[in-house]
Formats: sequence, C-alpha cells, structure tokens
Amino acid sequence: MKNLFLLFTLLLGISLSSFAQGEIDKIKTEGLTHSQVMNIAFHLTDASGPRLTNSSGYFKAANWAVNELKKWGLTNVALEPWGEFGKGWELKKSYIAMTEPYYRPLIGFPKTWTKGTHGIKNAELLVIDAVDSAALETYRGKLKNKIIILLRKDSIRPSFNADARRYTDEELSKMQNAKPPIPETAEARKRRRQMFGNQSASVSSLLKKMATQEGALALLSTTTRGKDGTLFVSGGGGYAKDDAENITDLMISYEDYMLLQRLATNGILVKIDLDVATQFNTQNLTGHNVVAEITGTDPELKSEIVMLGGHLDSWQGSVGATDNAAGSAVMMEAVRIIKTLGIQPRRTIRIALWDGEEQGLYGSRNYVKNHFANPGNMQLKPEFEKVSAYYNLDNGTGRIRGIYLQGNEAARNIFTEWLKPFNDLGASTVTISNTGGTDHLAFDAVGIPGFQFIQDPIEYNTRTHHTNMDSYEHLLPEDLKQAATIIAAFVINTANRDEKIPRKPLPEARGE
Ligand SMILES: [Zn+2]
Repeated sequence: MKNLFLLFTLLLGISLSSFAQGEIDKIKTEGLTHSQVMNIAFHLTDASGPRLTNSSGYFKAANWAVNELKKWGLTNVALEPWGEFGKGWELKKSYIAMTEPYYRPLIGFPKTWTKGTHGIKNAELLVIDAVDSAALETYRGKLKNKIIILLRKDSIRPSFNADARRYTDEELSKMQNAKPPIPETAEARKRRRQMFGNQSASVSSLLKKMATQEGALALLSTTTRGKDGTLFVSGGGGYAKDDAENITDLMISYEDYMLLQRLATNGILVKIDLDVATQFNTQNLTGHNVVAEITGTDPELKSEIVMLGGHLDSWQGSVGATDNAAGSAVMMEAVRIIKTLGIQPRRTIRIALWDGEEQGLYGSRNYVKNHFANPGNMQLKPEFEKVSAYYNLDNGTGRIRGIYLQGNEAARNIFTEWLKPFNDLGASTVTISNTGGTDHLAFDAVGIPGFQFIQDPIEYNTRTHHTNMDSYEHLLPEDLKQAATIIAAFVINTANRDEKIPRKPLPEARGE
C-alpha cells in the first residue's frame, strides 16, 4: 500500500514536471520561431511616432495595443485612467541653422513642453560667461531677442569603447555573488530629496528665468554625451495645468555648440535662423495605462494575479524604440505566445503598459495606489493580497541574462530553477541586487514582489536612451525574441505555482 502510494506520487510528479517541461518547450518554439515581436515594435514605434505622455502618438500606440490585445482574445482590455498628468505637447516644426558668419545647418532638437518662435526669426547669438548668480546679473537687460548659450569649459574625448556590449561571464558571476542591498533609510531618502530640490538653483535655471523675463528668443543647450549626431533630449520645463509656457529651448550637438561658442568668443558675430512650432493640449489632462488579462482557470486561484509590464510612453526626440517600445513589445509578445498556445493559467495574468514613466513612474505608481496600496500611509486595498508578482522590462533591447531579486532572497531558488531551460540562451544569473529607475519600483515600494530582468547593455547609455537615435534600427530581433520567450515562461510558472512568490516584509509608510 505504502509502495503503491509512493509509486503513484512518483508518477504524478513525473507527469506534472513533464507537462510543465512540455509547455516550456512549446513556449520556446512559438517565441523563437514564430515571433511577432518586431511587428508589434513597428506599430509602437514607426507607425505611432514618439509616445510622449498625453500626446497623440501615445494614444495612437495605446489604442493600437488595446485593439491588438482584444484581437488575441484577452479580456478586460482597457485604456485605464490613472489620474491627472498635465498638458499634452506636440512638436509641429523645427528648423535651426547658423546664417552668419556663413551658412551651416545645425543639429538640434527642441526640448519637450517648450514653446515655439511664432514663425522664422533671425537672431544674434549671445554667450553668457557666468558661474554664479552675481556674474549672471551683469547680463541683465541684454537678453531681449537673443539666442543664448552658457559658456562651457569642458571638452569631449574620442570613444575608445564600443557602444554596445554583452555582459562577460566575470561580470555576471559578480552579480550572482553580490551582497544584499542596504535598504534606504527614511533619513537618507529625505537627504536625497533635498539634494534634488537644491539643483533648481543652478546657474542654468537662473539664466532660464532671466531669459524668459527679458524676452530672449531661445536657449540652446548641449551635453558632452551629445556628440556624433546623438542628442540627449528630454524635458524643457513644467507641464502641469497651471505651469507657464517654457521658453524655446533646443538641445544641439556638442560639436555645433562649441563652434558657435568659439566664433562668438573670438569676437565674430554669429546669427541664427530659428523656426520652431509646438502645440499644447490643455483639454484632456488625464493619463491612461493599457491593461488586459488572460483569465485564470483554477477555481481557487483565478482571483489571484500575475502581472507583467513595461512603460509605453517615451520622450519625443525619437520613437522610443529601446526605451521602451522594446519592453512593451516583449510583454505584449509574451501574452500573445501564451494565448496563441492556448495555455490555461491557474492564476489570472494581467499585462500593463504604463504611461508617464519618464516623468516619474506616474502610470505605475498611481495604478499601484489605485489598486493595491498607497506607499505614503501603507493602507492596503483588498486586491493587495492577490498579487503574486510583477515582472518589468525596461533596459533597452539587450537579451535577458538573468533577474534582479530586488533584495528578495526567498525568490532565488525559484527563479534559478525557472531559468534552467534558458541557460542555453544566455540567461542564468540571479542577483540579490536592485535595479532602479523604472516601474517595478512602484510595486516594490508597497511590498509586492516586483522584478526587473538583467539585460545586456546594447548601446543603451551610449546611444539610444532618451536620444534622437532611439529608432527601430537599434532593436535586436533575436534578443527581443529571447526576452519574450523567457518572460512568457516566468509568467506561466508564476501563474501555475501552488504558492504565490514569497514577499519581503511589509515596508513602513513613507509619508506623503
Ligand atoms: Zn524607460
């Protein structure tokens, strides 16, 4: 009898694990050989345009995603409002060229939420040489109708390192063996916030204020990273309902900036043609996430949820291909794989494509607040207990090399096991370390297990992240296919596991 029982459990064990193995094999075949991820990425990037929060491009992509998820048979598909974001903004026209002492087109791109010039203007360049507010005061009364740059004393160096690279075995093993992160204390958080607040008193922000007051035509800025035709271009000021319009402000290439500066500081008159048109949308200030579900089938567990997502919004210097159409397309592809294969998850799977990430994780933070808990007071909503885990992807196009535990040691063995079928695709590292800066933090902040995957750093910080070069060409199809396949497997494993993913202790309320 005892032996029979043993035999039975043994057989059941084998059939369960081979069933799971069979599913993983099917996921691998679908994800690696019938992938739709590049087609999804095309619609989110080229076909939609830049996806700035509350812009027409964002809604074009979001509505396309909603329709596609419906077509695939997902349920509860919606454009879900998360709260008030602020003004929408569109770039309608941009032209900049040096006209004196000779003609030269300049590589430039207007910053987000800045105003236009109301037609083409030809203006004189003024170089401001000021390191503090007192020096800045000596320019008072001289800024009207000028195009202004702040004198730079830095320089650039040639690039000796490759833009793209793969993590080495040594780097990965260092991550694997990393020490647990030390949680930030309330005191440290307060200091960090104060430091952030102090930056607003910088010379460039004082100059901006003065230029606006005096009626300067425009500001030009640059960064040492912004060379070789790559411009790092993000926000140019406030976008809240009652914020004043921001002065015309363009990011221009480092090489062009220094050309203008050298000419002007050598006493040569520099004149510039500038024609920028922008449009604000002040009608609808509400932000929206995309959400959709594959309903669970286990009567006991279907009220529980596994979430996966990435931010859909982007900056507007390009179409945000690696930041973060890549993550959005991978997550959509992961649910497409599951749905296409007809896999019946025990728990409900919920995909979310976030809005407003670039301005402060607004879409995900407000979603978590609306559905699960407010990290300010840690008052928990009923749905809080129902979430097993949230998986996020937002580090470019690079393939998955493993996962960050975000300090959650109890998940290590589970994830190590789940990565085994993908070790041959380069994914095996499980690190206790954190990654920051993106939407899994919204979940982690209230104690819901939120994870990001380790991705190879393919041109991300060197070339594509928040630049005018974040285009479709910089996506690597084989890497995205690998990522979608692994995530589909992680999501199914999470949905079908008997228990939820273990949680870290509940965090303390952060205060408002
Ligand atoms: Zn991003």
